[in-house]
Amino acid sequence: MKEFDYIIIGGGCAGLSLAYELEIHEKFKDKTLAIIEPRSEYKKDKTWSFWKVTSHNFDDCVKKSWENFSINVPGKTNYLEYKDYPYQSIDSGLFYEKINNKLKQNKNIFFFKDIKEINTKNSFIFNSVPNIKRNHLNLWQHFCGVEIEIKNDFFDEEIFNLMDFDCEQRESVHFFYTLPYSKNKALIETTWLSKMNDNSQKDYDNQIKEYIEKHLKIKNYEITYKEEGAIPLFYPSYEKEKNKINIGTAGGMTRLSTGYTFLNIQEHSKYIRKNIENISNSKRFEISKKYQFLDDIFLRVLNKHPEKMSDIFFNMFKTSPKTVIKFLSNKSNFFEDLSIILRMPKLTFIKALFY
Ligand SMILES: Cc1cc2nc3c(=O)[nH]c(=O)nc-3n(C[C@H](O)[C@H](O)[C@H](O)COP(=O)(O)OP(=O)(O)OC[C@H]3O[C@@H](n4cnc5c(N)ncnc54)[C@H](O)[C@@H]3O)c2cc1C
Repeated sequence: MKEFDYIIIGGGCAGLSLAYELEIHEKFKDKTLAIIEPRSEYKKDKTWSFWKVTSHNFDDCVKKSWENFSINVPGKTNYLEYKDYPYQSIDSGLFYEKINNKLKQNKNIFFFKDIKEINTKNSFIFNSVPNIKRNHLNLWQHFCGVEIEIKNDFFDEEIFNLMDFDCEQRESVHFFYTLPYSKNKALIETTWLSKMNDNSQKDYDNQIKEYIEKHLKIKNYEITYKEEGAIPLFYPSYEKEKNKINIGTAGGMTRLSTGYTFLNIQEHSKYIRKNIENISNSKRFEISKKYQFLDDIFLRVLNKHPEKMSDIFFNMFKTSPKTVIKFLSNKSNFFEDLSIILRMPKLTFIKALFY
């Protein structure tokens, strides 16, 4: 069986981002890579959005970006504008195509469907398949989104709606998220932050239909694309091994309070590329302990008091847009953290330390 210097398990967002980062920095000139990916074809299956607080390799896969957004609870809307960190939306179809076209040109890069097809003994492994143990207490961000097209102009394409809490909460945390790509095209997602032991929340199609038809009052529309997913708001289990690093969701790249993962994956890829020559001995890359601690308290409050969360999110966005964007994108300084913390209901958060 064939041997390779490096193996990437999972050719999804993290696996392909890493392979691309290494390839464009010519790390496979005299090294070989095997990518293990079971899917038989790549097609658009996700829309990755984030505030662009650092550079990345995929500006040419951006479907649309915005400098304005809103958040609302029943009866109140907050409009925010920030030009320095645009909110970008990446089309995964374009991303897969760009990377695969590049990787196919290198004779040292090989693709397999199953790890059993190769010898893994002497390789360094980057694994993006998470080990998720079922636990009914775990919190998830689960959602379903549709892209719709309507005949008449309806949306203001200059501003996206990050969270609309003006919807049924069902004793949980629920909001709609709308990305208007143009005046007559938008992605509309129903999103829940909850334990996934309640199947009654998964009537996503009905939720979306009701939101579009009754809340937005759009009657004639066509659904052109649909995506569904669940992001774990906990870290998948991780065993330290000498010749293996976990990447992506499996590698703890999800910011647990928000589900944002894409840009952390890009930063992790850059870190690995810079340290690739001595990767076995380099320090583990992780989301800073400060955010791990703050997110843990945040999720404890969310778990105990879902009814308070819409106001908590709404108040968080009353700080300056720069502060809140930096905080949610792991780039805030001490004073910015403090201004967010001071917006939180103090007693509830202090009590959460002892749950
Ligand atoms: C629908 C959706 C939308 C999201 N939107 C956003 C967003 O807007 N912003 C954001 O920051 N994050 C978002 N995320 C979270 C995160 O960015 C994505 O989940 C991202 O794809 C994670 O990358 P990954 O490589 O860890 O996992 P994946 O992209 O899922 O890649 C894992 C790969 O492993 C393959 N695989 C599975 N089993 C095996 C096996 N046994 N052997 C080998 N390969 C295997 C899979 O086919 C897949 O290609 C979203 C997630 C989903 C599901």
